[in-house]
Amino acid sequence: MPQILDGNRVRDEIMNDLKPRVAALAAHGRPPGLAVVLAGHDPGSEIYVRNKVRACQQLGIRSETLTPPDSVTTEELLGMVAELNARPEVDGILVQLPLPPRVDAKRVAAAIAPDKDVDGLHPCNIGNLVVGLPGLRACTPAGILELLKRYGIPIAGKRAVVVGRSDIVGKPVAFLLLHEHATVTMCHSRTAGLAAVCREADILVAAIGRPAMITGEYLAPGVTVIDVGMNRLDDRGEVERIFRNSPRKLAAFDKNRSVLVGDVDPFDVAEKAAAYSPVPGGVGLLTIAMLMSNTVASAERRAGAC
Ligand code: NDP
Repeated sequence: MPQILDGNRVRDEIMNDLKPRVAALAAHGRPPGLAVVLAGHDPGSEIYVRNKVRACQQLGIRSETLTPPDSVTTEELLGMVAELNARPEVDGILVQLPLPPRVDAKRVAAAIAPDKDVDGLHPCNIGNLVVGLPGLRACTPAGILELLKRYGIPIAGKRAVVVGRSDIVGKPVAFLLLHEHATVTMCHSRTAGLAAVCREADILVAAIGRPAMITGEYLAPGVTVIDVGMNRLDDRGEVERIFRNSPRKLAAFDKNRSVLVGDVDPFDVAEKAAAYSPVPGGVGLLTIAMLMSNTVASAERRAGAC
């Protein structure tokens, strides 16, 4: 059986490491502050933001949520961001995506002060990542590196294959792995012979958004697999096929009318990998922990503590 890279365990470790740092900041001035902008009423976003606020409460980070309506304009959001940029007690600003369709999300993201960009997606922070300068790193990719490091998975000199080239996951995780001296191949929907490229991987990161697409033919024996995909299945036939009629999964589906699956086939990976992060229970849990980590780091830097 492969080693399970347990996101719960690593999330708890990260949160426990942050507690004394938050306490020290609070004792020497004020606790870190995170401002979240949640525009409109996207149900998924509302859940994510609730979980982020809860994580802040667990650590003693001060949080505030601004909730402009669906009708909010780009200019109004730019005004909100400018105000948050100017407030000294706000160490981190997060604009929850997706924004309403008419809003220019790239302009809004680029308006956040880079030293408060706790999502790590500002072009300045991406640039710092590319050239290897300090800066706030994108949360999910940073979580993937934490998972690998805390489980002692060797990276230097290894072949890493990243499937997916999004600005949020694929590109930043590829650069983080490169800075750890992996030999990195980045793949996407036009990659020729994808399965053969994936089979060369010592570390395979799947960030695609296609349910269980990475099957056994993509996996070399002994590979470490990081499954980033979060795909909600609402078709019972798909659940039967992907989970091989697992009574447990079918019961979960019948109860909730959907189940979550990653980008990697859960049975094939269990057969072939040496280690893998499951869905749920893997990388997904680390994104918020890394958001907390970025917020604390930002507060420390702004307080002159490091
Ligand atoms: P995007 O849709 O932005 O990017 C998907 C990438 O996958 C693209 O680069 C695309 O290629 C590539 N791709 C799509 N189809 C194929 C294919 N058939 N073969 C090879 N490559 C393909 O997705 P994200 O990066 O935002 O998210 C990816 C997954 O990770 C999703 O399931 C998402 O829900 C999940 N996710 C999980 C997070 C967490 O755990 N906290 C956080 C963020 C995302 P191309 O560029 O050519 O179109």
